[in-house]
Amino acid sequence: MEDIRKHHEDTQCVHASFIPDDTGAVVTPIYQVSTFSFRDVDHGANLFSGKEKGYIYTRMANPTIEALEKVVAVLEKGYRGLACASGMAAIHTAITALVSAGDHIICSESVYGPTNTLLKTVMSRFGIETSIIDTSDLDAIKAAIKDNTRVIYVETPGNPTLVVSDLAAIAELAHGHSAKLVVDNTFMSPILQKPLTLGADVVVHSMTKFLNGHADVVAGMIVVKNEEDFKHFRKVLNQIGGVIDPFNAFLVARGIKTLAIRIERHCSNAEAIARYLENHPKVDRVHFPWFKSHPQHDVAKRQMTGPGGVISFELSGGIEAGKTLMNSLRLCTLAVSLGGVETLIEHPASMTHASMSKEDREKAGITDGLVRIAVGIEKVEEIIEDLDKGLAKV
Ligand SMILES: *Cc1c(COP(=O)(O)O)cnc(C)c1O
Repeated sequence: MEDIRKHHEDTQCVHASFIPDDTGAVVTPIYQVSTFSFRDVDHGANLFSGKEKGYIYTRMANPTIEALEKVVAVLEKGYRGLACASGMAAIHTAITALVSAGDHIICSESVYGPTNTLLKTVMSRFGIETSIIDTSDLDAIKAAIKDNTRVIYVETPGNPTLVVSDLAAIAELAHGHSAKLVVDNTFMSPILQKPLTLGADVVVHSMTKFLNGHADVVAGMIVVKNEEDFKHFRKVLNQIGGVIDPFNAFLVARGIKTLAIRIERHCSNAEAIARYLENHPKVDRVHFPWFKSHPQHDVAKRQMTGPGGVISFELSGGIEAGKTLMNSLRLCTLAVSLGGVETLIEHPASMTHASMSKEDREKAGITDGLVRIAVGIEKVEEIIEDLDKGLAKV
């Protein structure tokens, strides 16, 4: 399919990772090899100098990995993708590619816990300063921008409070100060939000979540907008070395074939469950971008095409009530992660966001009583029945 970029994304999910070969294989096979032979010495030299196209060594490029990079880049409407060993490898590589000692980063306060920790405790040791702020507040961003701000790093909807940041407005602010906007699009997947079309420069994903979708792979992706960035990022990734392996790349590409239909079910299930929780007398507050009560509901409706599959909520009984609920569930599994076909429930303050300081957590609205549910694609009535039995014990 030459014109895969012109197709609907439902079709792109199925076909964009296909690279035809001489065997007639209908999916791109697993090239489980570390190194590729050269026809002769000149061929090897030409591959290294870039005069000829071809494969050299899997850390540099591999056909199965390229197939996966292609489908994600097509879905994100980006130039090229760079597949990584994990979401954190993608985030680390992207940040490292964009900043140097003495530079400043602005980062959303409602962000994946280890991202906050990477910036505040690892990158800080290399002379990179980070301001953690509420990126849903444009005035807060304006106040935080400095002459040496090179990156605005935004996760939206934010983890786990689902606070929404206005990507188009932030891109404008960033570009007015020669900074780049990097967006973690894990919670939305390219089906529900395409940051590059809203002005972002770089998208990162934990493909461990919706893109793979089956809770059996850890993987990440970077998508860039132009050839110049691609060449630079490829070099940095090749040197840092956090690449995916061909087998995992194959699994993620397989998962993506059903991404569009899985996302549909994740969204409809999540909406029904959020509504159920909102009407439950033991639930104080539900964070869900599709509700009018959500503080950035208008921005959400403008830049997202669906609410996603993650809900967070607070029980009137605080953390003790949350513990009783999480320990009582039978269908919903007590585990971190999200975006898989199975419904998972977890406690951010003691689990996904435990690496953040309590102060940073509280600033980001991650109270001790907050519970996060990553809604799967099971029969929604059965998920609600499980929650209903659990809440009855609270
Ligand atoms: C899980 C996650 C990450 C980290 O990805 P890994 O694949 O676990 O390294 C980053 N950002 C978000 C929003 C995530 O949910």
